[in-house]
This record gives sequence, structure tokens and C-alpha cells, in this order.
Amino acid sequence: KNYTRVDILNSAKENNVKYVRLQFTDMLGVVKNVEIPVTNLERALSNEIMFDGSSIQGFVRIDEADMYLYPDLSTWLILEWETLSEGKVARLICDIYTTEHVPFDGDPRFILKRNLERMKSLGFEKFNVGVEPEFFLFKLDEHGRPTMEFSDLGGYFDLAPIDGSEDVRRDIVLELEKMGFDMEVSHHEVAFGQHEINFHFDNALEACDNIQTFKIVVKNVARRHGYHATFMPKPIQGINGSGMHTNCSLSKDGVNLFYDPTTHNQLSETALKFIAGVMKHAQEFALVTNPTVNSYKRLVPGYEAPCYISWSDANRSTMIRIPAARGNATRIEVRSVDASANPYLAISGVLASGLYGIENNLKTLSPIKKNLFKMSDAERKRLGIKNLPESLKEAVDNFSSSSLMKETIGDFLFEKLIEAKCREWNEYKVRVTPYELEKYLPII
Ligand code: GLU
Ligand code: MG
Ligand code: MG
Repeated sequence: KNYTRVDILNSAKENNVKYVRLQFTDMLGVVKNVEIPVTNLERALSNEIMFDGSSIQGFVRIDEADMYLYPDLSTWLILEWETLSEGKVARLICDIYTTEHVPFDGDPRFILKRNLERMKSLGFEKFNVGVEPEFFLFKLDEHGRPTMEFSDLGGYFDLAPIDGSEDVRRDIVLELEKMGFDMEVSHHEVAFGQHEINFHFDNALEACDNIQTFKIVVKNVARRHGYHATFMPKPIQGINGSGMHTNCSLSKDGVNLFYDPTTHNQLSETALKFIAGVMKHAQEFALVTNPTVNSYKRLVPGYEAPCYISWSDANRSTMIRIPAARGNATRIEVRSVDASANPYLAISGVLASGLYGIENNLKTLSPIKKNLFKMSDAERKRLGIKNLPESLKEAVDNFSSSSLMKETIGDFLFEKLIEAKCREWNEYKVRVTPYELEKYLPII
């Protein structure tokens, strides 16, 4: 919404807002905030609030640590679930500026904005993004710490009483509706204790802000019910992991540019080139769509998560699926993305790759009709189907040698991200795992 400073000050007064959270997202996708009393709101709205960025992941600069928070006025929101006896809490999502009052190039939200500007310069108006986040609910122990015990033993689309978490999901939906979300569907997913809730698509920047808000709400409402909600991609081996399928399309003047009623599959040239660009760079952008060690435990055969770079209309084993809807709902579904991603960076990676396909007139490979998990390695090789990275290490290597990703993420965060992810991999790789003890200890 297009709020002015005055609208916000009035809204704060009318709703008895006592505290305002100034939020932003760090490099790793974690939402951070500083809270100010409402008496400081005017100063905040004049972009006068400073903070020390030196302890924020990816914000450290050698020369200076002070940063300014510039609230995005359109993100003013009263957090209904935070009602205190003294009044209410509201939030504003902020952009990060340096002491020279220029956008900070380590701010993921700024990076997405820059990519959206590039998109506009190519004649497109909107990058529409709609996500399907999945998550597990685990019981909390008596100290309030998460256990690995499922919230319920329901399965795909189950109803209560088998789906014992129906009321938690409904509470999440209610809370989000109060906050102005346009909710679409909510259902039990395949695994025990696994759920999915979808909200309406939006232009990329708003969609990413919504993803961040959504995660906070899911976690808070779950906790109220005695559960820990986790978006971890593969909390338990041997059963389905959680993805965040990302549906996207380009549009201009309200017209979906992925739709063309005159072609055999009603997909436009633009859509096909976009798909080609995404496929070409899938190994390179995996680090931003799947940024954790755990992400790669999900991208394995047999669990409805993709591991081969391919596309098709209905086949769920491919990385890109084209949902049946056409007309203004025409879109591609990128199924590799998971919710451990920093959405601003993940969406930047996908968008830049698709635009590359359009600018360079890339040819799309044929869609894959067969179940890829049932194909032999040789058959996939013959069809030219490549694999997604199999580990964080492979993803870091592919990302670091990508000139497109360097340009997309910008030199500053590109370096920072590689550094942080190498560190993460090195921490992980020296671990001696239960697997090794089980396998080798008795016989070697
Ligand atoms: N949970 C699956 C994944 O890891 C997706 C299931 C679905 O198709 O919704 O991506
Ligand atoms: Mg799902
Ligand atoms: Mg899906």
C-alpha cells in the first residue's frame, strides 16, 4: 500500500502502537530487527535511525560499521499477535544505506531491486512470484526445545483427526489474513507432521517480503500451539523433505508474457527462452536457491524433489514444471528452491538466469515426459540432462565460477557468500558421522 509518513503516524496513533520493529534481512536470509519506541517513529521515518552492522552476517565492511535504516513506507504493518498490555507492535521493512546515504551493496533487498530494475530496462514490468512453502511441525519438550517428534501422523490432504495439526494451520492462516495476506490453500503434506500453506503471488519484491513475514508468523503461531515449525529442507532422512516451489512469470501492463494462445502448448517464446536460461544456470544459482549443507540431502531421487535439470508440463520429477493453468495464470514452477534460501537472493538468481535466456535467444531443450527417477544414467546422458549439484561444495564451486551470478549478486555479497558457505562446508566435512561409525567401525 502507498502509505505516506502522515498515514503511518496516524495509524500508529489510532491503533495505540507502542513499539515499532525496523526489520531487514541478512545475507543468510535471517530476518533481523531493531525495536524503537513509537516516540522515535518520526525519526525513523526520516531515515535517521542508525545501527552497527558489524555483527550482522554479510554486513561487515572493513572501513565502517555504521549503517542507516531507510523504512519502506509501503511495508507498514501492525503485528496483531504481539498485543501487549501497553499497546501494539508494528513493523517496517527497511533498506540499508551507508553513511554516505547510498544503498548498501550487501543488502539482499537492494540486490533484488537492482535486478528488477534491469528487468524493467529490458521492457518487462513485473516478475510475478508465488511460492509453495512446506514445513514440518515438531513437538516441543518441557524446556520448550524442539524434539524430532511429529505433530501428527497425517499424510497428504488428510483431515482431522488423522491430521492432528488442522487447527495450527488454520490459526496460521487466520493470523496471516488479519495481516492482509491473500491466502490460497493450506493442506497436510505427504510426510507425517509436514504441511504446506500458500498465499497469492505478488511482484517479486513484495513476494520476498511476504515470505519473510510468513515464516515469522508460522513459527510464532506454531510455538503458541506447543510446536516447533521448521523450514529445514530435509529434517529426516528416508521421507520427503520440504521445498519452496517457486512459480514465476513476467508481465507487462497486466498481460502475462509467458502466455501465447497461438503455440501448441500455449507457452510464449519469452517463456521458453526464460526456461532455457534458468536451466542453463541451474548449477550456478543453486547456491542461492539451496544454500545449506542440508539442502542437498533433499535434492535426491525418489522424494518428489528434483535432482536433474529438466522441464515438463506435468512430470513432477523435473526441476521445472509447467502447471496446467494458462491465460494470465501461465507460469513456470521452479521446484528445486527450498525455504532455507534468502528469498531476495534466490529470486534474483532465477530472474537473472531467465533474462539471460531471453537476451541471448537460448533454445529450450525438449520437455521430459518420463519419470526421470526411473531413467538410467546413460539414458539421461543421451538426452543431455545434467544434474543439480550434489553437495554444498559443488554448489559453491559452480557459483564461484559464474560470471552471471557475480553480476547478479554484486561483487560485495558474491565474495561474502562464497566465504561464508566455504566455511560452512569446511565445518561440515570434518564431522565424523554415525554413518561412518556404523559402516566402518565393526569391520575396519
Ligand atoms: N516435498 C516435495 C519437495 O521436496 C514437494 C512435494 C510437492 O509436490 O508438493 O519438493
Ligand atoms: Mg507441496
Ligand atoms: Mg508445487
